[in-house]
Amino acid sequence: MNLYGYTREMLEEYFLHIGAKKFHAIQVFEWLYQKRVFSFPEMTNIKKELRIQLEQDFSLFLPKIIKREVEPDVEKYLFLLADGEKVEAVLMRHDYGQSVCVSSQVGCNMGCKFCESGRLKKVRDLETYEMVGQILMIENLIGSRISSVVIMGIGEPLDNYQSVTNFIRIINDAKGIQIGARHITLSTCGLVPKIKELANFGIQINLAISFHAPNDNLRNRLMPINKSYPISDLLLAIKEYIFITNRRVTIEYILLRGINDSLECAEELANLFRGFNIYVNLIPYNETNHIEFQKSDKEVIDAFYRYLKKEKINVTVRREFGSKISAACGQLRSKELD
Ligand code: SAH
Repeated sequence: MNLYGYTREMLEEYFLHIGAKKFHAIQVFEWLYQKRVFSFPEMTNIKKELRIQLEQDFSLFLPKIIKREVEPDVEKYLFLLADGEKVEAVLMRHDYGQSVCVSSQVGCNMGCKFCESGRLKKVRDLETYEMVGQILMIENLIGSRISSVVIMGIGEPLDNYQSVTNFIRIINDAKGIQIGARHITLSTCGLVPKIKELANFGIQINLAISFHAPNDNLRNRLMPINKSYPISDLLLAIKEYIFITNRRVTIEYILLRGINDSLECAEELANLFRGFNIYVNLIPYNETNHIEFQKSDKEVIDAFYRYLKKEKINVTVRREFGSKISAACGQLRSKELD
């Protein structure tokens, strides 16, 4: 068992189970996530016998950063996992602080046609500690704390629900990494039953839906998941999510030249979401070497944006990060495998 995979509640149960007091869970959390020690002997306020027991029961192994690429506002890291697999994470610097984009799986099975990660079939889910490790190792390397986390790296987070929600519990914990719920964003391609489950998760994170097409015909072609959960089902799940959480949902929409960037598409999109508590985040496509999609022209993006605005749909255009160092969307790991 890896200690970084344990939520505070799980750790409390562990201590009770071995006949110790549950407040030790808070002590351990403070050592791991506030004082940031990386070994048991350093946890000096925990008595020796208990430390030895912890050492027997838990590993403190963390993934290692084996490659770092740096641009002024963005850094990309490649992590080596215990079994030799690799995933990536990206650090972005904004006016308001630093955010990290973490991966949730090794590869991905969703098969979105425009996405680099989808070319690499899922090898396995990431464990909770491997996601926590991405944050800890980056903070350790840069010597400062990050203020927000987006679960938008390699993988479909809702296809790894238990490990991802435990990861969120740990990074959000007041005794843990202390990232506020509103500074945590989970992005999904639209696994409807899991969106419904997430509505009752209880931590008020931001939910982003990778939408990318305003009708089933086009969405089926771009995102195979739409054949299992078509737009009408997805809209109902989004509606229910908003009703239960009272939170605004982000609708992500990559603009692909000549495919989904026409004003007719903008109109269809506006018609789907009129009256919903959502905002649309338009994403300039990050072109990759392998996939036959291109980024829309700036004027086309502007026109799409203005149309939604005119239709009173809240809309923003995502700032582009890391296109030079291929930080976006599975490109680093995929480059490594070429
Ligand atoms: N599986 C999740 C999270 C990972 S993808 C999801 O589908 O949301 C994170 C976001 O990046 C998604 O909106 C995805 O559609 C988008 N994306 C993938 N490849 C991209 C590319 N080349 N350029 C821009 N965005 C991309």
